[in-house]
Amino acid sequence: MAWRCSGTSNAKLVSNLHDGLHLPGGGHLSEPVVKALNAVDRANYVRDKRDVNAYDDSPQTIGYGATISAPHMHAYATEHLRDYLRPGMRALDIGSGSGYLVAVMHHLVGDTGKVIGIEHIPELVTWSEGNLRQDGLGHALDSGAIEMVAGDGREGYAPGGPYEAIHVGAAASKVPQALLDQLASPGRMFIPVGSYMQAIEQIDKDEQGRVTRKKVMDVRYVPLTDKEKQYN
Ligand code: SAH
Repeated sequence: MAWRCSGTSNAKLVSNLHDGLHLPGGGHLSEPVVKALNAVDRANYVRDKRDVNAYDDSPQTIGYGATISAPHMHAYATEHLRDYLRPGMRALDIGSGSGYLVAVMHHLVGDTGKVIGIEHIPELVTWSEGNLRQDGLGHALDSGAIEMVAGDGREGYAPGGPYEAIHVGAAASKVPQALLDQLASPGRMFIPVGSYMQAIEQIDKDEQGRVTRKKVMDVRYVPLTDKEKQYN
């Protein structure tokens, strides 16, 4: 799939994703998601901002044992969470790395919504804030519509919750209870679960607080881990 969705510009990358990406449940990316992906220039979230590979549909290293995920994974995640990323809603991105997905989510929830990114490597938190500013989102950082936090994402971030949407960008061996607790009713979490064999689970909490889990696809993510372990 990778070769098909790559592009030579952000617009080309997104239009290739729109045309070429088949969602696990069938169908194509929706217009609001395409619009949000178009509003975020992926070149602002890679190490070498002039690198044409920024528009490849592949993950890229961003240092500290972390990667910016492949565009098609970001597109899938956003599409799965779309109903919980409506204007005014709150979202939490765990393992926010480059800040790319925080930006995409911000364009969906808007200035009345709130997106919090939590990342355990403080250097990546600082770098991601610079990326967001370079991508034109300084006003959202200044107003608090976007907040980037250094911390252990396995604990979630209780002060900002509950969240209608929780995205986890690294694989957990089991779903952390704190994240289930911080999910709003209704709310949806998109989380890779497993150690060697991993699958994305879509976890829904309904109005009554009932939780249902559904596997949506097999994946390979870096682990949600201790900071010390990731450096080695
Ligand atoms: N989605 C991001 C990054 C994906 S890589 C992007 O596309 O840019 C996974 C990220 O999870 C890495 O940045 C890593 O440092 C972070 N991470 C791993 N374990 C973590 C933990 N326990 N708490 C917070 N962040 C964690």
